Amino acid sequence: MRTLIANGTVVTAEGSYPADVLVDGDQIAQVGASLAGSAAVDETIDATGRYVIPGGIDVHTHMELPFGGTFAKDTFETGTRAAAFGGTTTIVDFAVQSRGKSLREGLDAWHAKAEGNAVVDYGFHMIMSDVNDDTLAEMDQLVAEGVPDFKLFTAYPGVFFSDDGAIFRAMQRTAKNGGLIMMHAENGLAIDVIAADTVAAGTTDPIGHGLARYPVLEGEATNRVIRLAQAANVPVYIVHLSASEALDAVRVARDEGLPAFAETCPQYLFLSLDDLGHGFEGAKFVCSPPLRTADHQPELWKGLVKDDLQVVSTDHCPFDFHGQKDLGVGDFRKIPNGLPGVEDRMDLLHDGGVVAGKITKERWVEITSTAPARLFGLYPRKGAIAVGADADLVIYDPTRSHTISARTHHMNVDYSCYEGRSVTGGSDVVLSRGSVVVRDGTFTGRKGAGRFLRRATADYARMA
Ligand SMILES: [Zn+2]
Repeated sequence: MRTLIANGTVVTAEGSYPADVLVDGDQIAQVGASLAGSAAVDETIDATGRYVIPGGIDVHTHMELPFGGTFAKDTFETGTRAAAFGGTTTIVDFAVQSRGKSLREGLDAWHAKAEGNAVVDYGFHMIMSDVNDDTLAEMDQLVAEGVPDFKLFTAYPGVFFSDDGAIFRAMQRTAKNGGLIMMHAENGLAIDVIAADTVAAGTTDPIGHGLARYPVLEGEATNRVIRLAQAANVPVYIVHLSASEALDAVRVARDEGLPAFAETCPQYLFLSLDDLGHGFEGAKFVCSPPLRTADHQPELWKGLVKDDLQVVSTDHCPFDFHGQKDLGVGDFRKIPNGLPGVEDRMDLLHDGGVVAGKITKERWVEITSTAPARLFGLYPRKGAIAVGADADLVIYDPTRSHTISARTHHMNVDYSCYEGRSVTGGSDVVLSRGSVVVRDGTFTGRKGAGRFLRRATADYARMA
């Protein structure tokens, strides 16, 4: 199967230029001017007036995550389908080691969830809940199997929490096996004290969640884990950075030349603490770290422009408002943490970033596709428009507007955090390894077509 994408503007992290893209089978065969007629093709897709971009890569999703007695609602089928509608053609999801179980059991469980179900390609990171001699040894094996990143938490005492010694041991191991430690950096021990005080003082609504998780406790934990990584002489990647205090810690470290990396998420760029108000309605916006006051947003944009933040991913973790979020009526601590977002990331950042004049379209491609590919061992197979790269491509209309709504989105969740928001920009045609999976709002892909991606170690993070 050969497909010619003609007359579009190729937009990559490096630059933009008019070019045709010839796809042969799974891969990009040629990129250049006026390729029409140069080879027999089965289909020509006219991309006049539109961008041709590498498919989005979302390196932070939680399909079917168990949390607080329930499960995130998107499966690998529904979640990757929604991702494809939104122009994202690769996800890296977090397999979970449950306390007392092996990493292997957790990874096997995630392979079982994804295999035969995902509609686009996927990889895994591993959440480590227990750092001990056995799991440390297992890390080496996972790195060899293409699962080279391990997420640890300074938050969620009693669930995912690791103390500094455990974090440091895992970091030491990655110094030897080439893996990368990803950190959820909030001081969960202090937050639990404040949250209990907040409930005792009578604030049980979702706003309490936002009030109890102080930004300074994200800043403190971010600095702490960066310094632990410095001591272990390894790179570190901060997930879902939300607070300017945490960004300050990353910036200072990077100015010192340390390999500290961080992502933020659309919810921290476009939503704020105010959304957690309005009584229990605010439960729709409960995630950790919490939404911050709006004054953090310009700082995060500055971080994206100056490359102190390298990636925007979603932390997609959807729970229905009715039947799941309401587990926390009367106590915000029992609200399942997480928001839907895998479908909206590319459009929100195009609209609120590129159209709003905050970032260039090239930077938009970089933070949503190319940088995650580089940091997570997928480049140049993913995140690039180049000969030999996987033909994960999006024909993106930068002028078309649509309104985000739970009534029309494809995520398996009963609300949208961006309900009624109009965005400029949308994915018209989406290809996953050469096959059209979405065309003009219709799904044309296939359950099970997505493949597991064995990813390389984080050499980029070590050298950048
Ligand atoms: Zn997460």
